[in-house]
Amino acid sequence: MNRDEYNRLIWISGKIVPLKDATINVLSPTAQFGANVFEGIRCYWNDTKQELYAFRLVEHYVRLQNSMKMFRMGNIYSMDELRQGLIDVIKANNYKEDIAVRQTVFIDGFGSWHSKEPVNMFIAPIPRKRLENSLDEGLRCCISSWERISDNNISPKVKVGANYINSRMAHMEAVENGYDSAILLNNHGKVAEGTGACLFIVRDGVLITPPTSASILESITRSTIIELARKELNLDVLEMEINRTDLYICDEAFLCGSAVEVKPIINIDGYTIGTGQVGEITKRIYELYLSAVYGELQGYEKWLTPIYQDVDRIE
Ligand code: PMP
Repeated sequence: MNRDEYNRLIWISGKIVPLKDATINVLSPTAQFGANVFEGIRCYWNDTKQELYAFRLVEHYVRLQNSMKMFRMGNIYSMDELRQGLIDVIKANNYKEDIAVRQTVFIDGFGSWHSKEPVNMFIAPIPRKRLENSLDEGLRCCISSWERISDNNISPKVKVGANYINSRMAHMEAVENGYDSAILLNNHGKVAEGTGACLFIVRDGVLITPPTSASILESITRSTIIELARKELNLDVLEMEINRTDLYICDEAFLCGSAVEVKPIINIDGYTIGTGQVGEITKRIYELYLSAVYGELQGYEKWLTPIYQDVDRIE
């Protein structure tokens, strides 16, 4: 980490401080047991409009509040507090470029894994250049030998740090075996999602994705894509169970998420997907998604919070 990175400003416990001073107790339940819930929020810089747009802030904060509730943290941060902290820390850094913001509510103090308090929060904006050639190369994935966590053990709906051990096991195994990443099946043997992203396939022109009951995170990008595909591309979109073999014979497949945006998959378990090239529908969805996040798609301004204009878009 270079000096600049250490001097980045972070919001923690209501104060904005350099990263080097944003420290967490090593004995805290968040450090020891992953007792934290979080969101990864993207903000996109529109050079023409000289504005930084946070994408779907309300939906991220509804999910964060739901995670806090399920994690029995109490509802200690209001929508306004969550949003104002993010705006303040981005402005303090004066970021005028694409960024990713990690907003984490955690159990602080010296407690055990079952401690409920003290609850604390940090908000860390990080510059994040988008890869211009994101569509040039598709991923080669495998079906993981690890099962996706499910609602009756550790629910994937709670976006808790500890859940990512399941993702980590699957990803590391996939990379060890020569793949780029993994797709996990759920406890019913049906397709769930990727390690940090949801999954879509295209078959006979229909866009198909597992339902939210399939042991997946309720992804904001997933619901964005469903809406854009239906309204802007007039595509049929089905939320239905997907079998492993459905993946092998689909025409196109891609992962989606705030971090990966839209990422094509060209091979699964050694089976070539479609032509082995990035599919047309995937390309069109990717382009639509980018125009929406950068504030260039008419009718979807509702998804954007302009950081520097200070316009209140959260009712
Ligand atoms: N599934 C998992 C396991 C994830 O970690 C993510 C990333 N947050 C997603 C799906 C995609 O969710 P979103 O579109 O809300 O970023």
